[in-house]
Amino acid sequence: MNIAAWLARTALISPDKPALLSGTSVVANYAEFARRVRAIAGTLFNVQGVNPGDRVAIFAGNSVNYLEALYGIWHAGAVAVPINAKLHPAEAAWIVQDADARVLFADNKYVADLSQRLSGSDCRIIAIDDESFDQFRCGPELEAPVPKNDDDMAWLFYTSGTTGKPKGVMLSNGNLQAMALTYFVDVDDVYSEDAILYAAPMSHGAGIYNFQHVLKGARHVVPPSGGFEPAEIFDLAARLKNVHFFAAPTMVRRLIDLARASGADGDGIKTIVYGGGPMYLEDIVEAVDVLGPRFCQIYGQGESPMTITALPRETVADRNHPRWKERLASVGRAQSCVEVRIADGEGDTVPAGTTGEILVRGAPVMAGYWNNPSATAETLRDGWLWTGDMGSMDEDDFLTLKDRSKDVIISGGSNIYPREIEEVLLQHPDVREVSVVGKEHADWGEVVVAFVVAGNEGSIDAGTLDAHCLDHIARFKRPKEYRFLRELPKNNYGKVLKTELRLMLQTKDGTKND
Ligand code: AMP
Repeated sequence: MNIAAWLARTALISPDKPALLSGTSVVANYAEFARRVRAIAGTLFNVQGVNPGDRVAIFAGNSVNYLEALYGIWHAGAVAVPINAKLHPAEAAWIVQDADARVLFADNKYVADLSQRLSGSDCRIIAIDDESFDQFRCGPELEAPVPKNDDDMAWLFYTSGTTGKPKGVMLSNGNLQAMALTYFVDVDDVYSEDAILYAAPMSHGAGIYNFQHVLKGARHVVPPSGGFEPAEIFDLAARLKNVHFFAAPTMVRRLIDLARASGADGDGIKTIVYGGGPMYLEDIVEAVDVLGPRFCQIYGQGESPMTITALPRETVADRNHPRWKERLASVGRAQSCVEVRIADGEGDTVPAGTTGEILVRGAPVMAGYWNNPSATAETLRDGWLWTGDMGSMDEDDFLTLKDRSKDVIISGGSNIYPREIEEVLLQHPDVREVSVVGKEHADWGEVVVAFVVAGNEGSIDAGTLDAHCLDHIARFKRPKEYRFLRELPKNNYGKVLKTELRLMLQTKDGTKND
């Protein structure tokens, strides 16, 4: 089934319901949203010569037009290629060429630059934020969504590519349907009076969560800032009510800080789904203290989008459960449409409590990487997705993530999981943020280095933190060096860039050895 059919159906049953909002202003109801989508699809198909299965890329910040473009592409039977808006135009051009896109919708400010970079290709570039896009909205309408099979590709999602070039994850209509429908079972309910706020990039998880809200005829709200501004989010939520949004843990941290400083209590926020990176125990406990039981966690990756495990609101908030903190430190249990197991290097399942690589199988798992059979063969083996994440499962099937396998530090032959050290350091009241990486060392192979953002600037030193670690973890795990930063480097999804921290280690020296 073409996933765009969901919009066409909702528009029939709820034509007058507000659909697209910029801040609190309604710019289209569902009838108008669907009409614009039919026109965009018709223009792509009849005027631009886009055929079913062709790729159409988007390189733009969050906007209402973004959602219209996505549905126009799907309605025409084409494949959307949403590109991270924070990439350099050269990187975006590389993706457009790798995907062999026929059309690129881009923010006006990039059009001239990208036209030069793509001058040799036959990709047409259309500004998504000016009158060029209005012409698409007024074009000839394509009445019904082009029929698609569940295994036809709908979304070509380029991974962040921290090592080498990004890889295109092929997500089918069926993968996206499984992701969307499972959300209602394992993550949260959505009702027609609800609103989804696109506070994180629509090219990624936040955009992937549009489907549940289209299905239920809820409101789609793009904040006027186009991004994540905690004050704006509190203000919009209070005015819109019943607001859901996806936030990376570092964004949740910023919400807590503002709530503490301003007294905001999260009025109007129904659900914050957090995930995409480690949520430290101290932070989620504080988040629930300050903002109440509004949080659910998901664990997923582009290759099984938003859908590996979930920790629902009740478990996050259930303080009376004897294992509440243990469960809160986990990423929850397998979502209903997938099997999850922990394997050793041979692919054999390891006993409960043992750390190994996390493997996933089920309906949301990608078909493979675009034009990259060797990467596909490495990642999809015997029907299982090898996530590259390390973790362990308890007797009740709660999964605790350790780290990406490539982030594990091997020091003197022992495996050290940075997450464990980070959790301990965050318990210190003067530590605001921390990230732990390995640094090459002639004798030990690697040593542990902690990058720390102090809560009160200058109020903490390495000696204090060393003593704190000695009180909580084995000696060999504690950092040999501390670096104090004003802030940690993050990408626009709010993920800490460990690769940049490792680069910093190459430029300065000063390892403190025992
Ligand atoms: P991406 O494919 O860019 O969405 O990145 C996916 C990766 O983010 C996963 O493989 C994990 O390493 C990490 N991740 C996703 N969700 C969580 C979570 N809830 N807790 C910790 N790490 C997560």
